Amino acid sequence: MPTPEYHITCIKNVLIAKDVYEIHCEKPEGFLYEAGQFILFDVPLPENPQDIQTRAYSIASAPHEENLLFVVKLLAGGRASRWIQESLTAGDTVRMQGPFGRFLLDTETENDYVFICTSTGIAPFRSQVLTALKNGDGRRMDIFFGNRQEEDLFWTDEFEALKTAHPNVGFHTILSKPQASWGGHTGYVQDFVQREVQDLKEKHIYVCGNPTMAEEVKQLCLEQWHIPKEHLHVEGFI
Ligand SMILES: Cc1cc2nc3c(=O)[nH]c(=O)nc-3n(C[C@H](O)[C@H](O)[C@H](O)COP(=O)(O)OP(=O)(O)OC[C@H]3O[C@@H](n4cnc5c(N)ncnc54)[C@H](O)[C@@H]3O)c2cc1C
Repeated sequence: MPTPEYHITCIKNVLIAKDVYEIHCEKPEGFLYEAGQFILFDVPLPENPQDIQTRAYSIASAPHEENLLFVVKLLAGGRASRWIQESLTAGDTVRMQGPFGRFLLDTETENDYVFICTSTGIAPFRSQVLTALKNGDGRRMDIFFGNRQEEDLFWTDEFEALKTAHPNVGFHTILSKPQASWGGHTGYVQDFVQREVQDLKEKHIYVCGNPTMAEEVKQLCLEQWHIPKEHLHVEGFI
């Protein structure tokens, strides 16, 4: 069956952290997806809009939310990065295909969720955590959010609010190269998880971020933490 395609309207495209844009789009009628899935956007070259390639983006909004939400980290000189920074504005129509992907919540078991991400790797976790909470899932779910510096952070107020409202939610921000004024956790996100989380083998581990990070944490999970394969879920932003 061909993948469904839609023409959707951009509602807002705004810089929310260093090189990070948050994009809101209208949800097209009939578009159904599961938390953790991604779509493909048609991305034109700013100087030649006829020249189109697709790029994948995780859907950060939960299926029950009204609009579609995406969050994109710019890569210098990248096609989509230039399009988002230089061209995409509210009111534009964008072609999208999807949904795709099997990076889904395991609801068959009651094991706790451990979400490990860097930067925009938090996108599918926002959708997944909001969905699990809406479904009344009371299991422990901890989000470990790794970044370099404070200027890279976004959505921390929203996740802190979820943590306050739901005793089963944990939210941990870890900076690898913080400025001296930073009073929070420091180091690499995976080292923090290894130190802080007991019984990792009993958890469902979800990993999302750039491909290098995703591969490194995957190997760590398999070789050092001995996570059973069926408990390990990895999405690399290749
Ligand atoms: C399943 C999936 C989900 C994803 N979800 C997200 C998400 O939610 N958020 C997110 O931020 N990313 C996500 N990604 C990554 C995303 O798809 C893109 O790969 C990313 O945004 C970079 O795209 P780009 O077109 O800007 O870069 P590309 O054009 O693809 O360039 C890739 C690299 O080449 C370099 N490059 C390209 N052109 C030049 C040039 N002219 N000069 C110098 N260097 C150059 C860029 O710096 C970059 O490092 C996801 C990927 C996958 C596979």
